[in-house]
Amino acid sequence: MCGIVGYLGSNGAYEILIQGLKRLEYRGYDSAGVALVTPAGDLNVHKSQGKVANLEQVAAAGCIDGSLGIAHTRWATHGEPNDVNAHPHVSQSGDIALVHNGTIENYSVLKTALEEHGYSFKSETDTEVLVQLIDYIKSTSNCSLEEAVREALLQVEGAYAVAVVEKNDPDKLVVARKSSPLVIGVGENETFIASDATPIIGYTDQVIYLKDNEMAVIRRDQPLAITSIDSNIPSTIDIQKLKLSLAQLEKGGYDTFMLKEIFEQPNTLRDCLRGRISSDCSHVTLSGVELNKEKFLQAERITLVACGTSWHAALIGKRLIQDFCKIPVEVEYASEFRYGNPVLNEKDIVISISQSGETADTLAAIQLAKEKGAFVYGVCNVVGASIPRNTDSGTYIHVGPEIGVASTKAFTGQVTVLTLLALAVGQLRGMVDSETVKQVATALKAMPKIIKETLKCDPEVQNISRMFTYAHNFLYLGRGYNYPTALEGALKLKEISYIHAEGYPAAEMKHGPIALIDHEMPSVIIAPSDSLYDKIISNVQQVKSRGGAVVAIVSKGNTAMNDIADYCIEIPEVPECLTPLVASIPLQLLAYYIAVNKGKNVDQPRNLAKSVTVE
Ligand code: GLU
Repeated sequence: MCGIVGYLGSNGAYEILIQGLKRLEYRGYDSAGVALVTPAGDLNVHKSQGKVANLEQVAAAGCIDGSLGIAHTRWATHGEPNDVNAHPHVSQSGDIALVHNGTIENYSVLKTALEEHGYSFKSETDTEVLVQLIDYIKSTSNCSLEEAVREALLQVEGAYAVAVVEKNDPDKLVVARKSSPLVIGVGENETFIASDATPIIGYTDQVIYLKDNEMAVIRRDQPLAITSIDSNIPSTIDIQKLKLSLAQLEKGGYDTFMLKEIFEQPNTLRDCLRGRISSDCSHVTLSGVELNKEKFLQAERITLVACGTSWHAALIGKRLIQDFCKIPVEVEYASEFRYGNPVLNEKDIVISISQSGETADTLAAIQLAKEKGAFVYGVCNVVGASIPRNTDSGTYIHVGPEIGVASTKAFTGQVTVLTLLALAVGQLRGMVDSETVKQVATALKAMPKIIKETLKCDPEVQNISRMFTYAHNFLYLGRGYNYPTALEGALKLKEISYIHAEGYPAAEMKHGPIALIDHEMPSVIIAPSDSLYDKIISNVQQVKSRGGAVVAIVSKGNTAMNDIADYCIEIPEVPECLTPLVASIPLQLLAYYIAVNKGKNVDQPRNLAKSVTVE
């Protein structure tokens, strides 16, 4: 959560920082701020509640000079979003400014100790404690900024990515990270730092992913120095080439990133599938599985850990793996798993799923699973993120940067990779027959075309959305493979339209939620022509006979639902295990248009942030 950006070079830092914040705004957007160090040794700080655009207005009235600066877009954890709590935070001496992503867990103990040394605090944040601590260490031990930062970080418990500057040194930027991400962009006579690579694209394609527990001292006209925080031991500098392009970060003619990402899915799934299915569709290859055959052959259980939308993908993954591999599968919220004393051994495989690869709870779950001897596999989108670096093996979903906070193309990418994984492991273990592989792989290979066809429902979904703009509640019902699809559809609506929605297994409805049904409670029912179709028809009848409006997602050509449901949205017919992929398309569009009808900011819904790097 939150975005950090920093610059030290020969150009004006302000514009670069503001552009960087705009690209990072999807990570947090309740307030923003910038600190600039002028060549004369002045420190100018501008902060504002709200979006980066507000910050620009505030900063325009002040001095924005300087070729060294740090900036922040916040997702508050300690203290409400307001001007004072916005970062950067400045030390009491006025000498040091700091931006921070994460949480300082022992901030209250440190704060009391600093108060005893005469420090007073302006904000309610945990972050301000850190900048005061650095200031205290620096002034009492008369050391360099980087020594004070190191010393302070050794006293801190929690998670952080920090960038620190000092008023009277316009030539130095100090950064460090533990559990929160930080990337360094190495340009010609200029260096960039950011929470992810997006602010750096267009300036340089040379990046260094700072490792956990490392700090870097960036000096003007001097080589970069990276060391471990604990021991001051120099680290090897591993410069990587960034493969992202600017076009991938732009809206490409769409009104919003979310709509662009929904419509990108035929292409993103093509990228996701590339090279993974043999030309005759008889074989699926994932290098992460190939390289670890023994582990997958010996596995006695697979546990999928994830959060949010990725957890819904995991529920679908469970069905797929059980069906094709006949291995017992469990699905856990990473936040529960990490504190739930899981019983694991070396015959366990833990598959962690996260779009960003930086989800704090998922990373902690990975750590725990490794300590217990399990083989840990990652399914991630962002190349080089913490999850791929901390797992034993894994698969990228390769759907490109997802900027809209509500996940769409990453969800379908995750489900696609889990389908491939289930087929690959099923083949390896001899648990799936070749006819099934061929049937599913053929349909999967055609998925880019099938999704393109599915997206033709767009105008119809937009029309239907108008009937429900003012609904206060929604039920989403599905069975089997599409119970998780119902959960995901409900989550999309909640996230961006703020309408309360519940996803439920359709048959469970009569054990409680049916009491909610009346003419003000619409239901969205996912009812493709699958093995449970007849059952779900009865569930629809139960809703209709209680006066509830029904939007049904049905397979093309199936007219039986026309007389029962109020609105039917047709999706192409695909093998049952692939129905979540197609059925989720109209659900994404329905949530999108209802939110747009309500005038909501779909790319930056309130209270949310894209990559959840705090507990
Ligand atoms: N814990 C800090 C705060 O509440 C940083 C939060 C963030 O990562 O944006 O200000």
